[in-house]
Amino acid sequence: MVKAVLGNALGITGLRDATAQLPAEPSSGGMLDLLGRAMRKVENDPTVPWVGRGGAPNALGEMEFDSGVMIGRDMRVAAVGSVRNVVEISSLPVDMLARNFPHVMLVGDGAERFAREAGHRTEPDALTPTMREQWRAWFTGRFGSHAVDRPHGVDLVTGAFSPQRAAQVQPKDTVVFAACDDEGRFAAMTSTSGAQHKFPGRLGDSPICGAGFFALDGVGAVLCTHKGELAIRTAAAATICTYMEIGESPEDACRRYVRDRFSKLPPNSGELVLHVLGRDGDPFVCSLGIPKPVTYCYWNVTTKVVEERPAVQLL
Ligand code: ASP
Repeated sequence: MVKAVLGNALGITGLRDATAQLPAEPSSGGMLDLLGRAMRKVENDPTVPWVGRGGAPNALGEMEFDSGVMIGRDMRVAAVGSVRNVVEISSLPVDMLARNFPHVMLVGDGAERFAREAGHRTEPDALTPTMREQWRAWFTGRFGSHAVDRPHGVDLVTGAFSPQRAAQVQPKDTVVFAACDDEGRFAAMTSTSGAQHKFPGRLGDSPICGAGFFALDGVGAVLCTHKGELAIRTAAAATICTYMEIGESPEDACRRYVRDRFSKLPPNSGELVLHVLGRDGDPFVCSLGIPKPVTYCYWNVTTKVVEERPAVQLL
């Protein structure tokens, strides 16, 4: 039976929708189904930014989606990155697991080929008018309005990704979920369009197992949002899970990660939010380097209500 589900605040409508459909006695095999339903709901909602239909394009005005899934029992993982034209991107890694696909990660054209051949819905870049306008303004500011209709002709490296300008390309958010059942099993899932106006082909932490997500049965699950580069450099999700495996509580594991890993990054490296679902199904969520309050969403089988709760501001 699904015992608890944790998500970041952007996922709240998806979690509400998916948990409302749970039968009175949800089966133990249903964690991935539940997370997939919650994720598809937000992926298809154009009002939810930074993911699926509401996502942000890369520097050329094209959507590139990333997603990862992990099952804690036998550390089965599937992930896709830099995939265009697939809004319900989380359905690809879920399908890779269901098919026992021999590869853990597919990117770009290969992932799009998998989507087509496996019968997933593909559609041309689904940019909302708001995201299209924001991209046009961003692009025109760097390359002039004459280049907007032929963005592939510009030199992005010197025109938009010089050290001074690249600092303006910051990931804003993503959608992450983790679940556990009453037998101590854990699953984790991520979905994002990545950093707004990123360099084409840029991968953040969301499709990288051990960085943006990790799950281990009997131990817990960890999910990261915001600046994925920081989670990759510090192997954030796997590190925190390992601290919990050797006995730390979720909060102590996050504090140790900050002390032993995050604080070794140069000052003002950027923002990160750590979402931890502990052994007992209790959540601990904390923000690093974010001045404004951050919230997350949480459901458990006792209350059967999706609550929005404040995260701890750890740094
Ligand atoms: N972590 C994601 C990335 O770096 C996006 C985000 O959460 O802001 O692509």
